[in-house]
Amino acid sequence: MSAPTSTPVRRSLDTEVQFLKGVGPRNAAALAKIGLKTVADILFYLPRRYDDRREIPPIRSLKPGQIATVRGRVVEVSGRSTARKGMVVIKAAISDKSGTIALTWFNQPWIKRKLEGYKGEIVAFGKVQEKDWLLEINSPEFELIDEEDSGEAFARITPVYPLSEGVPQALVRRAAGSALDGYLGLVEEPLPPSILQTQSLLGIKAALRQIHQPSSEEERLEARRRLVFDEFFFMQVALAMKRNSTHQESGIAFSIDRAAIDKETHTMLPFDLTGAQQRVIGEIFNDMATPHPMNRLVQGDVGSGKTAVAASAMVAAVRAGYQAALMAPTEILAEQHYMNLQKLFEPLGIEVELLVGKLTATQKKNAYDATASGRAHVAIGTHALIQEGVTFHKLGFVVIDEQHRFGVLQRAALREKGFGNPDVLVMTATPIPRTLTLTLYGDLDLSVIDEMPPGRRPIKTHWKQPHEREAVYAIVRKLIGEGRQAYFVCPLVAESEKMLAQAAADLHYRLTKVFEELRVGLLHGQMRPRDKEAAMEAFRKHELDILVSTTVIEVGVDVPNASLMVIEDANRFGLSQLHQLRGRVGRGSAQSYCILLADAKGDDAATRMQALVATTDGFLIAEEDLKIRGPGTMLGTAQSGFSEFKIADLVQDGKMLEVARQAAMKLIEIDPLLGKPEHQAILRRASVHEGRLAVIAVS
Ligand code: ADP
Ligand code: MG
Repeated sequence: MSAPTSTPVRRSLDTEVQFLKGVGPRNAAALAKIGLKTVADILFYLPRRYDDRREIPPIRSLKPGQIATVRGRVVEVSGRSTARKGMVVIKAAISDKSGTIALTWFNQPWIKRKLEGYKGEIVAFGKVQEKDWLLEINSPEFELIDEEDSGEAFARITPVYPLSEGVPQALVRRAAGSALDGYLGLVEEPLPPSILQTQSLLGIKAALRQIHQPSSEEERLEARRRLVFDEFFFMQVALAMKRNSTHQESGIAFSIDRAAIDKETHTMLPFDLTGAQQRVIGEIFNDMATPHPMNRLVQGDVGSGKTAVAASAMVAAVRAGYQAALMAPTEILAEQHYMNLQKLFEPLGIEVELLVGKLTATQKKNAYDATASGRAHVAIGTHALIQEGVTFHKLGFVVIDEQHRFGVLQRAALREKGFGNPDVLVMTATPIPRTLTLTLYGDLDLSVIDEMPPGRRPIKTHWKQPHEREAVYAIVRKLIGEGRQAYFVCPLVAESEKMLAQAAADLHYRLTKVFEELRVGLLHGQMRPRDKEAAMEAFRKHELDILVSTTVIEVGVDVPNASLMVIEDANRFGLSQLHQLRGRVGRGSAQSYCILLADAKGDDAATRMQALVATTDGFLIAEEDLKIRGPGTMLGTAQSGFSEFKIADLVQDGKMLEVARQAAMKLIEIDPLLGKPEHQAILRRASVHEGRLAVIAVS
């Protein structure tokens, strides 16, 4: 260990790690590799897990399936290449007084070099297995036990930090220990006593001490609870401030004649609104009437009737003298909205214009004229709506459908085209778990349509193995014989649109052979727009019995007579996507069915299939999906960054998130700009989230 080159003038949390006792410049360079440059970085670098080394079980007592820490002397090390080219298997046998266990690593030849000739003890951690009557751990984490930490210091709950190669655990542990001993006193408590008390939270100093060096599981949990609260709380404070400031901005105060709009809504819709739809429309109208911009998210399960809600709000906007726009993620969906809304709006004398990429130059020019002059009251389109040439006469109300497919910038761009600060209504396609809603859209006001239109019978879902295909075909025939229609969704074969189209065409060909007597159509993304439209139209008019399709039907397609969906290779789809697909049936009053054709291969295929069979509640499915996939994957790349917390876990910490959110809202109510001296530390911590908010927020 080299001595520090110079002593820091003043100790602060910004002091470089090299000045920590037991670190020095060389180690500091290693720590810098994982982003640890200052004392504060180390203090807030949290363990990934812990090794409870207080009572390490004797090797002999281990049972297969157990996840365990083992300790022993290295008695043998071997390395060999397998028949399969290039695969190197390293095996080490380690023994304690009671027995021996094998540790196995693949393709990590450096481990052999490290263990060969090492005569000391090691600790290893992993899942115990049994192979040929021998206990074994595959790819365990391991550490050599240094002389220095083999004594007293060893037998405790030891933090294990997330590291990359070449940064020893022992180094980070030492650095964290020095940082705690020398600098913990400098950490300021950002929360005022009132919050600490009401939430019975540990002080920040104690929390940091106990998260790095817990002396019991209880201590660790208490520390974790405090740090999870912080992580949620500062973000929720930032979101609450953002929401609050939107509420202060000046916007359009629509003058809405509630009774008149209700009457028009009633006239245009062929059904009565559900209680939930009425409630949500009321919430939207209240927002619209205030002289501030609306920023509201409407969530509802597939088929809950979000479109009707949006339609009623658009009528209100138009009657108040403004234009409205609706942006959908795909052409098919935009066209469908166009057709539906045109039908609803035409009798009311409301002009609707469609703006999609495929329009000819002349059509485009006409559409542009219509929106610019105000001749069109409502514009419906894809991202073509936000193209440069598009201008509006007086756009006051913006609906964004199937929100998660749009980048935030696209939402902002549409808003920019508005007159002053238009009201924005965001509708999500798929339910997402509440924890995600609160973190991703916490700056929006939230309305939930928590009721399905009456008369719907829950879709019956069955999981069939591929060899039961003939039986499935028989069901298809039977239902079609009863006058129903069916979708066949072809598997997600590859990333490329072209291969998907090919797969759809193949399936189509096969099914025309299987169902020679039936009318089988095809729809995929690579078809010419005109052909796509024709296929959809034919299916809608019941000129087709079966529609073979890729996931282009996933969003919004609405054919009530289609009451059967067969999903091929269903295990290739994610849970939420399957739910979304399944939502294409069950839209009429007939009993609908969804058949998942899938074998149980793949990690959690069975779990996913069973979840779908068990429930049609999209919110439950979303929770399940979150558990299986985690927030990052569930949301896709664009937004995954926002769900990466250091310590909080959106699956287990949902309750804490609610608590933190309540506390944040209460705080912002008392001190909206966090101007009070005792809230300065909160303001600083919350502003760290501003960068993220700029990306999530609509404005
Ligand atoms: P979402 O967009 O929420 O998935 P849609 O708005 O597409 O749902 O509505 C699904 C179907 O339910 C449509 O066929 C629509 O006409 C119908 N629908 C909507 N609201 C009602 C209602 N209150 N009563 C009966 N049918 C309704
Ligand atoms: Mg919809």
